[in-house]
Amino acid sequence: MLQAGSTIGIIGGGQLGRMLAMAAARLSFKTIILEPQADCPAAQVANRQIIAAYDDRAALQELAEACDVITYEFENVPVEAAQFLATKTIVSPPPLALEISQDRVAEKQFLNESDIATAPWRVVDDVEDLIAALGALNERGILKTRRFGYDGKGQVRLNSLDNEAATQAIAAIKNAPAILEGFVEFTREVSVIAARDKAGNVRIYDIAENVHKDGILDTSTIPAEISTDTAVACARATYNLLHALDYVGVLGFEFFVLPDGSVVANEFAPRVHNSGHWTEAACAVSQFEQHIRAIAGLPLGDPKRHSDCVMENLIGDDVLKVPAILAESDAVLHLYGKAEARPGRKMGHVTRIKSGK
Ligand code: AMP
Repeated sequence: MLQAGSTIGIIGGGQLGRMLAMAAARLSFKTIILEPQADCPAAQVANRQIIAAYDDRAALQELAEACDVITYEFENVPVEAAQFLATKTIVSPPPLALEISQDRVAEKQFLNESDIATAPWRVVDDVEDLIAALGALNERGILKTRRFGYDGKGQVRLNSLDNEAATQAIAAIKNAPAILEGFVEFTREVSVIAARDKAGNVRIYDIAENVHKDGILDTSTIPAEISTDTAVACARATYNLLHALDYVGVLGFEFFVLPDGSVVANEFAPRVHNSGHWTEAACAVSQFEQHIRAIAGLPLGDPKRHSDCVMENLIGDDVLKVPAILAESDAVLHLYGKAEARPGRKMGHVTRIKSGK
C-alpha cells in the first residue's frame, strides 16, 4: 500500500491525466506527468511535468526513479516504454492490457478467447482481403485500422460487395493494416466502468448508455435503459476480461446491445473512460479515485450511485455554453484547462444530476 506523500507517475497529459492527478492529490499522493507538450491539462494540476516524448529512455528512467507506481491515461503509450518501466518499478494497468488494446485484431482475439462475444471480424491487409471479408460478413461492415483509431477516426462503412468502393476504402485508410467488422444492428451502446485491485477484487459502476455525435461521445445517461439480464451479461464479460488480463486499475468496456437484449463487446480502454466522468458527480468515489486506489493498493471504494444523471461532453465551441451551465442548479461542471477551443476538441464536460436515487 502506498503511503501518503508517495509519488504516482502518469504517462500522458490530457484531461484524463488531469482528473487522475486531482484524485491523487485528494488522497495525499504526488503526481509527475510525462508529456511532450508543455502546460498540458494534467501538468497544470500535478506536482511536476517531465517534458519529453513517451519513448524517451532517459525521461522514462527519470520517471521510474522518481515514482512509486506508474500509470497511463491513454492507450497509445508505446508498449516498449511501459515494458521498460515495468522492469524498474510497478506499472498498472499491466503493459499487456496496453498491447492488446492497441491492436483491434489482438483485442478481438483476446476477447473471443476469454469467452466474450464480438462482432464477426476478418483481418484485412489489401483490397482482395476486403472483398473476401465482405463476402463472408453479409456484404456489410465497418473497415477499421488495426491501430491508432479513436473517436471514429480511421473507419469506413461499406454496404456492398463493390470493387470500386473497396478500393476507395483501402485508399481512405492509406493501406494501413485493418480489420473488417460485421455491421452490428444494435439498439443501444452502453459501457461498463470497472476496477480491479491487486487481490482480484472487482467493483463495477452502474452501466452508462452512450450516444455519439460525429464519432465522438456526446452524452452518457445513467442508468442505461437495459434489462437486468443485459446488465449481468455486460458485468460477466467485464469480470472475464479483468481477470484474463490480471488487471489492476480502472477499465472502460464498450458494448452493443442487440434487439433481443444480448450484448456484443465493441472495445475496451485500459484506463479511466469518458463514459465514466459522471461518477465524479453521482458517486462518493469517482472512477479517478477508484483508479488511484487500485494502483496504490488502497481498498476499492463502493461504486454505488446516489443519483440518476446525464453527462454531456463540451466539444469545441460548446464551451460557449459555460455561463448558462453555471446558472443551472444540479449541474456539475468540469473544464480541462485547454486554451484553444478547436472543433472536435474535448474542452470539458457537465454532469446534470436528475434525481436522488
Ligand atoms: P469504435 O471506434 O470502434 O468505438 O467505433 C465508433 C462508433 O462506430 C461506435 O461507437 C459505434 O457507434 C459505431 N460502430 C463501431 N463498430 C461497429 C459495428 N461493428 N457495427 C455497427 N456500428 C459500429
